[in-house]
Amino acid sequence: MRRDPYEVLGVAPDADERQIKRAFRTLARELHPDVNSHDPQAEEKFKEAAEAYEILSDADRRATYDRYGFEGLDSRGFASTAHGFGSFADIFDAFFGGDPFGAAFGGGPGRVQGGDVAVAVEVSLEEAARGTAVDVAYDVVDTCERCGGSRAEPGTPVETCSRCGGAGRVRAVTRTAFGQLVREQACEVCGGEGRVPAEPCRECGGRGRRAVRRSLQVDVPAGIADEQRIRLAGRGHAGERGGPPGDLYVLVRVTEDERFLRDGNDLVTVVDVPAPAAALGATVTVPTLDGDERVEVAAGTQPGAVVTLRGRGMPTIGRGRRGDQRVVLNVVIPRNLSGRQRELLEELRGSLTDENLREPAPESLVGKLKRAFR
Ligand SMILES: [Zn+2]
Ligand SMILES: [Zn+2]
Repeated sequence: MRRDPYEVLGVAPDADERQIKRAFRTLARELHPDVNSHDPQAEEKFKEAAEAYEILSDADRRATYDRYGFEGLDSRGFASTAHGFGSFADIFDAFFGGDPFGAAFGGGPGRVQGGDVAVAVEVSLEEAARGTAVDVAYDVVDTCERCGGSRAEPGTPVETCSRCGGAGRVRAVTRTAFGQLVREQACEVCGGEGRVPAEPCRECGGRGRRAVRRSLQVDVPAGIADEQRIRLAGRGHAGERGGPPGDLYVLVRVTEDERFLRDGNDLVTVVDVPAPAAALGATVTVPTLDGDERVEVAAGTQPGAVVTLRGRGMPTIGRGRRGDQRVVLNVVIPRNLSGRQRELLEELRGSLTDENLREPAPESLVGKLKRAFR
């Protein structure tokens, strides 16, 4: 199924060129494999976004799509080229004419911002409630210490590139389904630097950058939700040619706790109460994030009744206030009765009157169900 390109990019039908470009950049950045290595569908989604951008950024294609849909595009020779591209870098190159995180994303001329890095961590519900610190280790491209990023052996010169004459960029022509595309691309000899070291640095092989393993302690704030991301600015891959480093995204997974169900900042627990205890009134033990708590069950408690423990839920990030814990009382009807127990219950049944069974304030069935499942 091909999705509507406006929907894919999340723009209005009357969006202008700038809004469309911005929407695609934002999406493309999110889906970049360095950031999104945890999503196996990132590449497919990226291609879908690229195809949507290809249609909406071209006035003829957009008008054709608006009038005739995808079929119109295919039959009028506007078939997508996005799926023909091999890699993310190719697509970026074709659409933005250069490095995705460089000039197209707001670095200065020649400066290239480093890529983003994503890591995932797991915390328990209790840790999520209190807040915690987690050690993460990740691989990152950093500036080479030996040459300081100059790419040359210390003490040796860096010379002007003979291929591009120092410009760092060369023109290239690519054939696509909708004609020739002339674009500038980084010079493959100097890698866009415009200069090449006479003697490449021994440590990094003349790249000026090397992969290193970095460890970091990350503060996970109290109240964090499952799948929430923490962004640590400047902790990603090193930039090039004086560009700023990328960011580190820490994806926090909160493991399930079989005792609690999370509902926003509230927690829901279910506690069994034997039918006679529910009828007579009792005290039950309820697990909370702060340890077990004794809770009074009133005489005549009905199945599905809810007791609310104020302030026993999860905190709101950045604020101290905690949600509530809702305790659903699950009245358990006795099974496997002995002869004596049967007699007692039969005696009880015989003695029950309307007074015992009538509700003090009649409630509809829907009302009862809502109470149980709210
Ligand atoms: Zn080096
Ligand atoms: Zn060059």
